[in-house]
Amino acid sequence: MQNFTYQAAPMRVIFGTGTLRELPAELARLGIGRALILATPHQARQAEEIAAMIGQRGVGTFAQAEMHTPVHVTERALLRVNELDADGVVAIGGGSTTGLGKAIARRTDLPQIVVPTSYAGSEMTPILGETQDGLKTTQSSPKVLPETVIYDVDLTLTMPPSLSATSGLNAIAHAVEALYARDRNPIISLMAEEGISSLARSLPKIHVDAADVEARTDALYGAWLCGCCLGAVGMALHHKLCHTLGGTFNLPHAETHAAVLPHVLAYNASAAPQAMARIARAIGREDAAGGLFELAGAIGVQRSLRELGMREQDIDRAAGLAVTNPYWNPRPVEREAIRGLIARAWAGTAPVDDARHS
Ligand code: NAD
Repeated sequence: MQNFTYQAAPMRVIFGTGTLRELPAELARLGIGRALILATPHQARQAEEIAAMIGQRGVGTFAQAEMHTPVHVTERALLRVNELDADGVVAIGGGSTTGLGKAIARRTDLPQIVVPTSYAGSEMTPILGETQDGLKTTQSSPKVLPETVIYDVDLTLTMPPSLSATSGLNAIAHAVEALYARDRNPIISLMAEEGISSLARSLPKIHVDAADVEARTDALYGAWLCGCCLGAVGMALHHKLCHTLGGTFNLPHAETHAAVLPHVLAYNASAAPQAMARIARAIGREDAAGGLFELAGAIGVQRSLRELGMREQDIDRAAGLAVTNPYWNPRPVEREAIRGLIARAWAGTAPVDDARHS
């Protein structure tokens, strides 16, 4: 075993079904008496329901969260925080809403309670990605970590089938890269394998029946573990590629992760055989990359970047950007091989371990 450093994040997690009912007690525990509830426009009604539920501990809602945390939206939310003299925020929703809560916390240090309703995992990380004038910047600060996270399986039952599948694969991607991270450690690797296996067994059941509570419980548990992985160790080629594709070509976040992941696994297969063996074991297949590609197909995920709106002529530019300031990766990031990887992800063909076949 290699030497390692492990640092646990200081967050309180409440997990289960019907756990949203703990929210008033959590607000009281944190001394929040004037909470602002955050959501996307799509989940505005849920924000209102929460406001009604917490009564006098809430001062209003702000249901304008957007993907990639645009700074102009954060500025509008901060105006509302000041107008209402809010002393804490409750973010209910996916990674976009969590991002807004984190952006407010970074600027105000207000306490946050996050109620995640997708599998993105942002609530477990000190990372904040923001966009301004079309540029995405990422920073890491313990200031943005929520004080409490309430996972309530009931709130995930309404997640549309396509988001359930892509968001689930997005979560798996965090755990996959944690298994071959340069700063990996045995605790996070345990969480990674358990997270991948919980999601790999539950996503096909959710695909058949979105209201399967047992499968939804397994998936949310897996997503929590995968989020811990993302928050604890460094990410590699996959996250760099998705960051580039999302930021530069405006491709949707979770869908891009889902389409790219099997191809990055094939790229890294020869350089990280132990991680691949653990991933394959977790998904119950012989081959990690091929197995995840099949899983994505089985749960109805669009497996080509072309279907997500990327143009063929952008493949070269994407390859160039991916090799600029690359993240550490178990296999060196080589332009021609990366170009081949992106071309296959664009076309949606099966992943190829080109290092083995060359
Ligand atoms: P999202 O939050 O944008 O959600 C997509 C849509 O689905 C939204 O309209 C949302 O309101 C809706 N939705 C979410 N849960 C629902 C539910 N249970 N029922 C009905 N509708 C629901 O998408 P996402 O994939 O959760 O998050 C993506 C964003 O999170 C990106 O901006 C990404 O960069 C960020 N992210 C950040 C980190 C981090 O550590 N900083 C980690 C992961 C993702």
